[in-house]
Amino acid sequence: METINSVRGFRDILPPETDKWQRVEKTAHEVFRSFGFREIRIPVLEKTELFRRGIGESTDIVEKEMYTFTDRGEESLTLRPEATASVIRAYIEHSLHASETVTKLYTIGPMFRRERPQKGRYRQFHQIDTEILGPDDPRTDAELILMLTHFLRKLGLENLALEINSLGCPNCRPAFQKAIVSFLRGREKELCPDCQRRLNTNPLRIFDCKVESCQTVIADAPRLPEYLCGDCRKHFETLQESLGLFSLPFTLNPKMVRGLDYYTRTTFEITTEFLGAQNAVVGGGRYDHLVRDLGGPDIPGIGFAIGFERLIAMMPEADDALPPLLFIAAMGEAALKKAFHICNSLRMKGLAVEMDYAGRSLKSQMKRADKLRCRYALIVGDREIEENRASLRNMRTGEQQEARLDMLEETIIQLER
Ligand code: AMP
Repeated sequence: METINSVRGFRDILPPETDKWQRVEKTAHEVFRSFGFREIRIPVLEKTELFRRGIGESTDIVEKEMYTFTDRGEESLTLRPEATASVIRAYIEHSLHASETVTKLYTIGPMFRRERPQKGRYRQFHQIDTEILGPDDPRTDAELILMLTHFLRKLGLENLALEINSLGCPNCRPAFQKAIVSFLRGREKELCPDCQRRLNTNPLRIFDCKVESCQTVIADAPRLPEYLCGDCRKHFETLQESLGLFSLPFTLNPKMVRGLDYYTRTTFEITTEFLGAQNAVVGGGRYDHLVRDLGGPDIPGIGFAIGFERLIAMMPEADDALPPLLFIAAMGEAALKKAFHICNSLRMKGLAVEMDYAGRSLKSQMKRADKLRCRYALIVGDREIEENRASLRNMRTGEQQEARLDMLEETIIQLER
């Protein structure tokens, strides 16, 4: 029969890689909690309109990459391509702003974008996403970036290249957009067709274009930070000062605009050499009008999204898998019955115990104990059962001792200590 494989760009995550995933999730829960974040779980499916309005009509994601379908001819739905829009939708829908002035949320889960699959780029990928809603103080931006770098370092990631930029606000950005448009007038033909269109719809997006000739044209264009208004400038300066307090190295990247339209003021990315300059592992920024644009009150926010797959690829190897404590090798019917009972009772006490029900030879059972890297093996035969004893072998040293069967649980629990 023909086999059925997974969909292109959608991949299985197998053990032992899943051990790494669990380590990342555990660290995220611990670190984020100490910075005051709570977990939110949101659906993977939303109304298409949420992303159109949230991310922006003229972004690559909305224009080309969404998995959108009409649900039985009634409603246009989309598999979420990112989490922020959904988190804000939930924040508004449940009026979280009414009960607290600062809301710190995080969520971990799959996102879907129909991009061309390649190394480090999938159609179903996972993000670790955090959002702070309420404060617009630049120290909040610094706090979020500090938490992020602390988290990454805890996972063993060094040499993080942090880049920051400010995208200004609705007061100062129009002047910048005008400057870009007039800079590019007369050079339209050198731009790719997409950017020629962007020139009229969303000129900032040209900075983000992957086409080389567009990058050449835009290289000498005016830079956003030169156009910041007084408030935005001050915000940006305080952010840098606050990061400086923690000796957190960063570089200013005035060309970083990020791929989503909702950003205002602070934006940041973390890239690593391992993945090449193009590949950021984290992207984030401030979005002071997104809540309002999605129909909620005028509440500012800031957040970031870590690419889970890219993070895993960068993490140093570590032996996450804890081997079982004990293997029970049983020889004979009565021994098998007893071993089955002991094995599952110990598991219910929280100990990792393995055994084999197939009645194989002692040699092959011990081979399996070795392969599983069990720390101890308990060897029981029918005669031992009658005599209320078994042999307990330390698999590392080869030392063997007698253990009383009626005292076995206590003996084994003692080993774990
Ligand atoms: P973005 O939501 O586009 O700002 O992306 C945030 C992070 O998600 C990026 O820095 C990547 O690490 C990760 N990411 C985005 N798209 C993909 C993808 N198609 N496959 C794997 N990771 C991705």
